[in-house]
Amino acid sequence: MVTLFVDFDGTITEHDLLDAIAQAFGDSEIYAEVDRGLDESRLTLHDVLRLEFAPVRAPLAEVVGWTLEHAAIRPGFREFVSSVRERGWRLVVLSSGFRELIVPVLEREGLAGLELLSNTVNPHPAGWRVGFRDETPCPVCGEPCKRAAVLAEANGSTIVYVGDGVSDRCGAEASDLVFARRGLASYLEEKGVPFTPFRDFFDVVAGIERAGLA
Ligand SMILES: [Mg+2]
Ligand SMILES: [Zn+2]
Repeated sequence: MVTLFVDFDGTITEHDLLDAIAQAFGDSEIYAEVDRGLDESRLTLHDVLRLEFAPVRAPLAEVVGWTLEHAAIRPGFREFVSSVRERGWRLVVLSSGFRELIVPVLEREGLAGLELLSNTVNPHPAGWRVGFRDETPCPVCGEPCKRAAVLAEANGSTIVYVGDGVSDRCGAEASDLVFARRGLASYLEEKGVPFTPFRDFFDVVAGIERAGLA
């Protein structure tokens, strides 16, 4: 049995929409400062999300509309989902983004039935408030990360991870087969953790076939 975890922003989507929304609807100075804080490890990913979205005051419907206009799905994703379903494997979309913005994109793609674990947001008119899926610090990285969900949901099955960013690091390190791009790829390379680079989900399907998982 195989369980696959796929990040949403910058992995299923071509670009990181969470970042784009924080820039377009938030405060550009706070965004830049918070981004530096993350790079210099002064802030956790939760701090970053909390701070970046606190200045966002737009109604949810407006941001969902903007998201649907800008969200492009990475080529091959639909074929990847079909291939995983044919094999009878379990696929979990595991995101640090907000359910309220992810579901409309998946629905548009005819993929509303995908299993989704993510944060949520309360689009309060005085500033958006993030509801975190899990606030328990991870014993490995010290932050509330994706590792605990990966291990709990996989429950001893073989783990495949597909991701691109900071939020994917610890979960990827706990996985058996990793597909990585952008920041996640450089991070894993530096740490000497094996991974397969990918541009689209056709690469991922081919990599899974090559790995001969059962
Ligand atoms: Mg990402
Ligand atoms: Zn961790």
